[in-house]
Amino acid sequence: MNNSESQQNLLSNEAGQGVSGGARSGSMPSLTAPADYILGPVEKHFLLSAERGDCATVRRLLEENKDHPELLNINCVDPLNRSALIAAIENENIDLIQLLLELGIQVKDALLHAIKEEYVEGVEILLEHEEKIHQPGQPYSWEAVDRSASNFTPDITPLTLAAHMNNYEILKILLDRGATLPTPHDVRCGCDDCVTSSETDSLRHSQSRINAYRALSSPSLIALSSRDPLLTAFELSWELRRLQTVESEFRQEYEVSMDTEFLNMNC
Ligand SMILES: [Zn+2]
Repeated sequence: MNNSESQQNLLSNEAGQGVSGGARSGSMPSLTAPADYILGPVEKHFLLSAERGDCATVRRLLEENKDHPELLNINCVDPLNRSALIAAIENENIDLIQLLLELGIQVKDALLHAIKEEYVEGVEILLEHEEKIHQPGQPYSWEAVDRSASNFTPDITPLTLAAHMNNYEILKILLDRGATLPTPHDVRCGCDDCVTSSETDSLRHSQSRINAYRALSSPSLIALSSRDPLLTAFELSWELRRLQTVESEFRQEYEVSMDTEFLNMNC
């Protein structure tokens, strides 16, 4: 794959998703396990070994069962919907992450988990992996997940989440790779995306706007992306104040965004 092209494309279709993404799924994400899938003994052993960071056993089980997907599916998940890869990320086990990626585990929304854990090395490896596997014109791994089995709503992009965590290092990595800022549409926007999204689930629609503004209020994101951080912070706080009156039922949420931004910018 052409490297500069992939870097440019990677994450670049984030713009606008903050709002339009809400229309993709009308239901809230659930934490329940996928329908009645029962783990076999080998899969239990596999997930437990991954949880313990036992790379040798994980490798052995996968090799022994590579012709028996009915005994061990590398993508199997525990009752909390955690795959071996998610366990490796939560335990910050880089060797295990690499092993699982080499052996072809589906990454799904693993990148978002790594960002949530603020695990910089994991984020880098998963981004490199995504560049290798991503096909132009296709959704990225974290966009293609089954929403009923994801802990993240569709409007949460890697950049939005990194901004919520206000993690400077991860934000820089994503921006360097071409991630773009969320662009919330106006509250009264009448574009097709907004109308559909609002009709499908108006709460979700408002929540995605709040998520986008919370991201834009990240002091690290402002510092990294704005030529005039103080002016940006000032303009943003005006916009947030206006939204507080227009969307008064979300007053508190907008206030939180404003506080985060002001606490950090004014000192
Ligand atoms: Zn719109």
